[in-house]
Amino acid sequence: MPPTTACRLFLALIISFGPALLAGSKPKPRPYSSSAQALIDRAFADLDPGKPVVDVHVHAIGLGQDGDGTFVNPEKLSLRHPLKRLETNLYLKATGVEGLAHFDRDYLEVLAARARAFPRPVRLHLLAMDRAYRPDGTPDEARTEFHVPNAYVFAAAARHPDLFVPVMSIHPARKDAIQELEACAAKGGRLLKWLPNAQAIDPADPRFDPFYCRMKDLGVALLTHAGEERAVAVKDAQALGNPLKLRRPLDLGVTVIVAHCASLGRNADLDHPGKAARNFDLFLRLMEDPKYRGRLFGDLSAITQINRLPAPLQTLLARPDLDGRLLNGSDYPLPGVDLIIWTRRLVALRLITAAERKALNEIWKQNPPLFDFVLKRTLKDPKSERRWSADLFQRSPESLPAQ
Ligand SMILES: [Zn+2]
Repeated sequence: MPPTTACRLFLALIISFGPALLAGSKPKPRPYSSSAQALIDRAFADLDPGKPVVDVHVHAIGLGQDGDGTFVNPEKLSLRHPLKRLETNLYLKATGVEGLAHFDRDYLEVLAARARAFPRPVRLHLLAMDRAYRPDGTPDEARTEFHVPNAYVFAAAARHPDLFVPVMSIHPARKDAIQELEACAAKGGRLLKWLPNAQAIDPADPRFDPFYCRMKDLGVALLTHAGEERAVAVKDAQALGNPLKLRRPLDLGVTVIVAHCASLGRNADLDHPGKAARNFDLFLRLMEDPKYRGRLFGDLSAITQINRLPAPLQTLLARPDLDGRLLNGSDYPLPGVDLIIWTRRLVALRLITAAERKALNEIWKQNPPLFDFVLKRTLKDPKSERRWSADLFQRSPESLPAQ
């Protein structure tokens, strides 16, 4: 059985028999145990008090309520597609929203409450998600898994300017792609998000060169998923997540942040025809290219999830030379999905201790994004005992070297 199918069936079982395992409670003003509080305190102790904690990878999601323009493919909610529906339920539970009646509003409110429960200010980069488009520039609704318009994240950020930073998403095949890019940049947008496998974007397509050049001129950086994508269905499009395809925007001077450091799956090694390589190794190959120093970065979102362990996480923790090129990201709401966060495995890999695990699990129950942050500050390379540096967690896309 292919891994995706196995994974889906597993999800179905968990949903059927283990709803109590799923995250989903709003943060409560319950005090933490002294050991959990001590771990939280340590996670924040060496941060620069003058700067917020930064999370560059926070998903916005909506069901299109009150005409807000958001969209989830009906297949994902349909009883005729039980596995897709169960998977969707799993994600919905992780959001902490109770009941779907006011899901869109409540999703952002719960997220804001969880972020405000951090002991220090946080800036969450809230991601729009453009539709899939066909090569002729027409939207492909059937292929679109979910859609979050740019206006939606800009409006959310206007309501919570202390918390949310809007991140635009524009499919470069759109007829109005450059116009929309200019409009978002004029409103202060400095980051643009893609999920090429799901949106049907080939980052190496030369037809997008004018779009890349305009991004560079406007100082807009690209945050793009690379590697395999399992959180959304992709229909034979995993090749679009080949990290080597990002040479095209990089060579045109665009700053690129590779989501999850391309930590999942394999792809064709385009430099050695006929061979394949781990996407993570292809990402490292780009990182090692001196041409891309100061231009290519990676985010830590999803890196601790069970399906990505252990090599990419172990490598990133063991290599201090990469710290200056990493940004913190949670991939929210995924840290709330119990099924993919296995702290026991992290203990087995000696990346955290059993006592830390107990405290982390307690934090998870109250506040999954806080858990994600404290976990990443707690992880230690077992050989060198090194942790990721504090400044990594306060690095914002806007502070990256000028393009
Ligand atoms: Zn993501």
